[in-house]
Amino acid sequence: MRTIFHLDLDAFFVSVERILDPSLEGKPVIVGGDPHGRGVVAACSYEARRFGLHSAMPIRTAFKLCPQGIYLHGHFKEYSRYSRAVKNILSGYAPVIEQASVDEFYMDFTGCRRMYGSMFELASHLQKKIWVKLSLPCSIGIGGNKTVAKIGSDCMKPMGITYILPGMEKEFLAPMPVETIPGVGKVTMRELNSKGIYKIDDITKLPSDYFAAAFGKYGIDLWLKANGEGSEYLTVEREQKSISKETTFGSDVVNKEIIYNTLFELTGKVCHSLRENNWQAATITIKLRYSDFQTITRSKTIKPSSDDDKVIFETALNMLKKAQTRRVAVRLIGIGLTKFNEFSEQEVLFEDIEIKRKKLLRAVDWLRRKYNYSIITMGAQ
Ligand SMILES: [Mg+2]
Repeated sequence: MRTIFHLDLDAFFVSVERILDPSLEGKPVIVGGDPHGRGVVAACSYEARRFGLHSAMPIRTAFKLCPQGIYLHGHFKEYSRYSRAVKNILSGYAPVIEQASVDEFYMDFTGCRRMYGSMFELASHLQKKIWVKLSLPCSIGIGGNKTVAKIGSDCMKPMGITYILPGMEKEFLAPMPVETIPGVGKVTMRELNSKGIYKIDDITKLPSDYFAAAFGKYGIDLWLKANGEGSEYLTVEREQKSISKETTFGSDVVNKEIIYNTLFELTGKVCHSLRENNWQAATITIKLRYSDFQTITRSKTIKPSSDDDKVIFETALNMLKKAQTRRVAVRLIGIGLTKFNEFSEQEVLFEDIEIKRKKLLRAVDWLRRKYNYSIITMGAQ
């Protein structure tokens, strides 16, 4: 049985707007632009929901129901900035994170009980941390798969935590309306209702064949979800195929110490991006260009892959020392990382020393973000 968390920021856009303008606190706030325009409600505060407003509602309808509301166009850049900040906090805890949308994150904490103790307490800690650091409220659902966790996070909003104990999935879902299941929209809901199926319980009482006949593959999936099953594995983005950085010296350099220090600094930067993405790299490439433009590249694949400055720097430095055979000034130095895998090699991860080091690296990343690179160097020992 896996342990999946679904963390959903409560009324996220509105929460950010309230950070930007605290006078919006306690008022019906609607993000979605011109109340007389053609748009839809992107988000609304709980105060606005009391007037019957909800997201995706045409904004004109919203205005009719709640003319006294405060209608905002929204600060979308700020939303992504806060979203990244949340992800950064979560990356310090969760070995694997799937960001499902700007305000939703799945995390896989399977096997982490020994490290974190109670999963409920871990959820409460994450919730508090996001609240204290960013003033953002969130709700968390904990379950054996993504579907159950997602439904859980929606149960007790705002600032709720719902833990669906292993084996209780079916009972938990039974009394809920069918449209609670993610993916069941209005059309499917009406179709199910027309067959006398209103609650999730009603689905489980029928055989899966019934849904296969009515909805095909989607129907089987629906039946499985109603029975408490769902995807257990997170999808982690991996579009970016490489991370690299290089420096061209202002004037060509002979001093090896300067060259090595530059390599160290570049390593710090690429490793930082690596960890921001929750990746580890297997292949390290260095690039060396002499003042006469002769260019040398060397690559090495390490096992296990790593996101550790020290490991990557040592490998890169060894390659550089071997590659730099000429007594000619150097014009450019670079490092590249490729062959990523997600930060999820649990065998390695859950060894305590490894965890401590990772926590340290994350703390270093945080400091680097807060101040700048020049202040924090780990010492190229
Ligand atoms: Mg949300």
